[in-house]
Amino acid sequence: MVSFSLSNGMDVVIVGGGPAGLSAGVEAAARGLEHIVLEKGKLMQTLLDFYPKEKPVVMNWHGVTPVFEGIMRFEGTDAELPAEQFIERCNRYAQDAHVQMREGVEVSSVRPGGAGYLVTTSDASYDAKHVILALGVFGRPKTLPQWEGERSGIPQRLRGKAVLSLKDPDAVSGLDVLIAGGGDSAVEDALRLCSRNNVSISYRQADFGRRLSPENHAAAIECVRHGHLTTLFGTNITAVDLAGERLAVTLNGSDTREYDRLVVRFGGTTPLEFLAGCGVRCAGSPKAKPVLKDSLESADCPGLYVIGDLAGVKDAIVVAIQQGVRVIRDIR
Ligand SMILES: Cc1cc2nc3c(=O)[nH]c(=O)nc-3n(C[C@H](O)[C@H](O)[C@H](O)COP(=O)(O)OP(=O)(O)OC[C@H]3O[C@@H](n4cnc5c(N)ncnc54)[C@H](O)[C@@H]3O)c2cc1C
Repeated sequence: MVSFSLSNGMDVVIVGGGPAGLSAGVEAAARGLEHIVLEKGKLMQTLLDFYPKEKPVVMNWHGVTPVFEGIMRFEGTDAELPAEQFIERCNRYAQDAHVQMREGVEVSSVRPGGAGYLVTTSDASYDAKHVILALGVFGRPKTLPQWEGERSGIPQRLRGKAVLSLKDPDAVSGLDVLIAGGGDSAVEDALRLCSRNNVSISYRQADFGRRLSPENHAAAIECVRHGHLTTLFGTNITAVDLAGERLAVTLNGSDTREYDRLVVRFGGTTPLEFLAGCGVRCAGSPKAKPVLKDSLESADCPGLYVIGDLAGVKDAIVVAIQQGVRVIRDIR
């Protein structure tokens, strides 16, 4: 194992190369901080894994008002780029700012030690005064309660028919599709599929999610009004079985219907074990979140910050980018 240690430790190690971690990396590089971004996959891995092809990346996700104060800005013509171009722009920001980054490196632990913290990966350990956790919540996407514990969130026998994301919704046609979830990503899938397929959306609430962006909400209501989308509000999926080439999906314990595809779009889960291992206390119900000061520093671990989706403030790219800017200003 290689040990990366400057005489007084690196200024900052950033765990995760999504919008939050990259923003922190770009700001750290611009301020001349000794830094490194450690990313277990590739830069923007969550977007690569879960965004459908050519998905417009919007900056008012969940109704957030976009404000950019740092170097990374997605405004004007960049305010709604297709996912592929958005990722390309992110790579360009990283290159232009000379962000120090290692991809394909998973952080296994963050413990007090050295100049502040020792960050350990499979092949190296880094000694840093500050650590920024920007891991996101999609390491383990949320799935049906009965499938928790399944590798990749879907039972082997159902894979391919039941999925957590559709890479190319435009290639799906003539199918009966059930989408589970009522947030923006569920509704965006429904909107892209409903002109060529028979699409239903199952959501446990009595209406679409409160946090839905106004555009997605209006478009979904319009599709429902024209009979292109069926809403199954107040439903929980209680069982899924194979029915020949199709899926038999049971809602609320008794209502069984057949579909060709089931897309489960429930969002991610907070990696509580990882946070506990770092010493970061989590609290709150029903969803536990890291206990943070206003500065996003852990209430229990001085010098250790949590940003992006993992901070649990609001899951949106603009929020993640802003938090990266704020934290680097704070630790400088
Ligand atoms: C389908 C879908 C569509 C969306 N569309 C939009 C949109 O249009 N606009 C918008 O604003 N938001 C959108 N979002 C939300 C947005 O993607 C998130 O808010 C954003 O990605 C959060 O950024 P982040 O950096 O906190 O986390 P992430 O983007 O999840 O990045 C975390 C990174 O950390 C890495 N990582 C995890 N664990 C480790 C480890 N142990 N060691 C090293 N690296 C690790 C991961 O590989 C990942 O690259 C969408 C989300 C989904 C699922």
